[in-house]
Amino acid sequence: MGANTDAMILGAGPAGVALARLLAARGWSVAVVAARRADAWEGLSPRVIVGLQRAGCTAAVGVAGDAAPRRAGWNGRISALNHEHLVDRARFDAALWQDARAAGVRVIEATVATLRRGERGGWTAFDAHDTPLASAGVLVEARGRRAPATGLTDACGPRTVAVARVFRGPPVPAASAAVSFADGWAWMAAAPDGRRLAQIVVDAGSVPPRHRLSAFHATQLLRVPEAVEWLAYCAPEGEASARDATAVLRGGLVGADWLRVGDAAFTSDPLSGHGVHSAVGSAFAALAALTTLRDGPEALPLVRRFVEERSAELFHHAAAVGRAFYRMEERWADRPFWAHRSAWPDDSADAPAPVVHGRRVQPVVVDDRVVEREVLVTPRLPRGVLTIEGVELAPLLRLLADHPSPTDFAASDDTASAVARRVGQPPAPVGAALLWLRQNGFLQDGVSGGGLPTG
Ligand SMILES: Cc1cc2nc3c(=O)[nH]c(=O)nc-3n(C[C@H](O)[C@H](O)[C@H](O)COP(=O)(O)OP(=O)(O)OC[C@H]3O[C@@H](n4cnc5c(N)ncnc54)[C@H](O)[C@@H]3O)c2cc1C
Repeated sequence: MGANTDAMILGAGPAGVALARLLAARGWSVAVVAARRADAWEGLSPRVIVGLQRAGCTAAVGVAGDAAPRRAGWNGRISALNHEHLVDRARFDAALWQDARAAGVRVIEATVATLRRGERGGWTAFDAHDTPLASAGVLVEARGRRAPATGLTDACGPRTVAVARVFRGPPVPAASAAVSFADGWAWMAAAPDGRRLAQIVVDAGSVPPRHRLSAFHATQLLRVPEAVEWLAYCAPEGEASARDATAVLRGGLVGADWLRVGDAAFTSDPLSGHGVHSAVGSAFAALAALTTLRDGPEALPLVRRFVEERSAELFHHAAAVGRAFYRMEERWADRPFWAHRSAWPDDSADAPAPVVHGRRVQPVVVDDRVVEREVLVTPRLPRGVLTIEGVELAPLLRLLADHPSPTDFAASDDTASAVARRVGQPPAPVGAALLWLRQNGFLQDGVSGGGLPTG
């Protein structure tokens, strides 16, 4: 059996490995139980690389390589969007495992079949033959979409499936493109070694059984002129495969000695292109949650609020952004695929109230711990902002509101120095905080924080 460790993480994708490394760096003994994943290609935004670097995942960053240009063909318009790092997830995840091992994390290659709680606490994971794999005091569920359901689903988008197939053809520079068509959208990627990926994202109800997937994929691609062009002189390598791509927000994400992280907590529509970014971000949040829970079970209500509110806000924000994209495609607004996604989430349903511009007391992370603090929120920053360059914004705003002055705080070094003296911090970060307040509508030019809206 695996060593008895402080934490056992089931699943070694970006969420599991980033969290394993963060815990190990803080002295936890950690084991991850990792099953090999099926082949898949994904495009990682440059923000993912920053998150992976913060978590010290240098091997994974190396595999991600340079970013390639990404185009979009939406509502009949072609536009150059931005850049993304094209990764073969099997290779990328193998590099993540290397990163885990480099941090002293024990990587156990196995598939978890069952879990049992010990009589005196702790958890043990077993394989399909009931052989114990690892045991630990704290359990982290990081098996992504394959994590067992919690039995509580807070929200679920239209049932969606992605069908992908790899092709090979003449070598071309790395690039990717997302293109809409009548019954879905396609993501195409080209690697410099001549491999191409064509993935279509469609209504789950339209997808046939596995033995007819490749034929279905071919028929759908013929309806995407850009795909026909993209795959010129290419031949398929292997059959098409399908992945569930439905956006789901789980309920029940944390207990006194367990927590769900990454896609095991909530998943987004792949149109967002931020799944891996969100998974890595959730590892940092989970680090704070687990560190705080170590202080004792009385921390659980605050930690639960932190984990569940954070997940719900990110989930609903991603859903609203996705809906805006679906609504931009007007040519097939009456087709079921587009009609359902343009109408979800339904604003009248139980989504949280839209975020207003103002102040709010909420759980936040300070020094790796979950604490309650007042933050500033805007519709663009629904999770709220606590500090800019180490300066807490809400107390600063209160100070400004108590001392109305017609000065343009942000532009004047003298004013920044004066405010800095009052808050007892250096002028440069205070100047940056003042600038942030002004840029985000909490201060107007030449006007103090008096009369500000409150959340
Ligand atoms: C079709 C599709 C396309 C996507 N495209 C993109 C994209 O282009 N860009 C992007 O950023 N995101 C994309 N995503 C989202 C992205 O894949 C996920 O958000 C991200 O991988 C979540 O990371 P994770 O660590 O939570 O889970 P995962 O990456 O899914 O990792 C879970 C790990 O658990 C392992 N596991 C599963 N079951 C067991 C078991 N029983 N025992 C042991 N281990 C197990 C798996 O093998 C895997 O290694 C896409 C998702 C889908 C469905």
